Amino acid sequence: MSRIVSKFGGTSVATKENIEQIIRIIEMNSDRRAIVLSAPGKAPDAQTKVTDYLIAITERSLSGRDYSKELAAVKKRYYDIYEPLGVSATIIASVVDQLDTRIDEDRHNASRYRDLIVAAGEEFSAHLFAELLNNRGIKATFASPQSINLEVTATFSDAQVTELGQKNLTGLKALCEETVVVFPGFYGITAAGDICTFSRGGSDLTGALIADAIDAYEYENFTDVNGILSANPKTVTAPEQIKALTYREMRELSYMGFNVFHEEAVKPVMKKRIPIRLRNTNNTENGGTLIVSERLPDERDIIGIAGASNYCSFNLQKFLMNREKGFGRRLLSIFEDLELSYEHCPSGVDNISVILDQRQLHPETVNNIVRQIESELKPDDLKIEFGLSLVAVVGEGLLHKVGVLAASTSALSNAGINIKLVNQGSSELSIIFGIDSADEDKAVKALYDCFFN
Ligand code: ASP
Repeated sequence: MSRIVSKFGGTSVATKENIEQIIRIIEMNSDRRAIVLSAPGKAPDAQTKVTDYLIAITERSLSGRDYSKELAAVKKRYYDIYEPLGVSATIIASVVDQLDTRIDEDRHNASRYRDLIVAAGEEFSAHLFAELLNNRGIKATFASPQSINLEVTATFSDAQVTELGQKNLTGLKALCEETVVVFPGFYGITAAGDICTFSRGGSDLTGALIADAIDAYEYENFTDVNGILSANPKTVTAPEQIKALTYREMRELSYMGFNVFHEEAVKPVMKKRIPIRLRNTNNTENGGTLIVSERLPDERDIIGIAGASNYCSFNLQKFLMNREKGFGRRLLSIFEDLELSYEHCPSGVDNISVILDQRQLHPETVNNIVRQIESELKPDDLKIEFGLSLVAVVGEGLLHKVGVLAASTSALSNAGINIKLVNQGSSELSIIFGIDSADEDKAVKALYDCFFN
């Protein structure tokens, strides 16, 4: 049997109209056998995501504050969505009232307690949706991570699936033959039997794990946008929608801040080359954006232009640096010891820079870095630049196309933008320019015009 996994994000399960639309989508194609649901996200008359309410409940409960408003708001969301669709108030109560029991659980391990409560958002969505499908005559099974033994590590709020957990999912193929299977996204079960969530946005990862387990021929990821755009629409007017891009291109774009898909979710499907299709729940006419292992050469060489701010650069200068053994290693270990991760490390004959996200720094950390660099490496000069932006030209086409760097630098220079650094990795998937943050929007526009207009 051919199977598709369809995952619906928070804004796709936020109202009764959304849920009706999901049922229509399931009915459109009988290959949609595995459905993964998020917790209800923002809706026109509900400006807080259920997950955020659940986090607030945890924090309030742990600090002895009143959480009754948030608790009532969470329960109300499910009644508002599922009661008008015909799920009885008694059934809804039997599901959502489990939250009271969870809140009364042992609080000694705050992280464990948090995950237990926060995972309820997805669990209630999937449970009630399976109930509704059965009411509508579509045979469906609610598959909780407990029942399918989706085993994950006990790293609360950042679970990773274990080998056993992945293996346990293989039985799902047979279940999908018999019924539509509805999964709650976002969490698994530890070996000790505790609920443990993935990091935020982790329902994408659940969908990918299921797609891998049931050998889906496609993993559909439904949200409230048509697909990935080739640039930020806040910067560029009506940027093109990307029709297809490779897993590698998508990784480059998400590294540069394109917030499209949970990064960890690519790995399980990439292994089996299962295509991911990002698409709009409310616009199924649009084919969305397909993420694949290889794409056709006649599609765009350059797939997107991205910009990200808040970087800083530690620039060191030292005469005959190239002859000093271990200089780079000693420099990077200063950052490592302070538990800071760096993004790029471009170097010249007598100079080297370390570029990092400046949001990780505290005033005392900067002072610490400078002190250690000066005492351990004795540079002739050390300068720190804050407020840098990185702007990237991304595309598989960079590998074989002549002149992308030339075209990019002249587009930037025509726009009067000073380039502070250029970095092209050996994968040749992107060229990254470091510029002043004040120039970021201008740079993205100039590069977009150069490659897309
Ligand atoms: N509901 C969770 C979150 O808001 C997980 C998800 O939607 O993927 O992060």
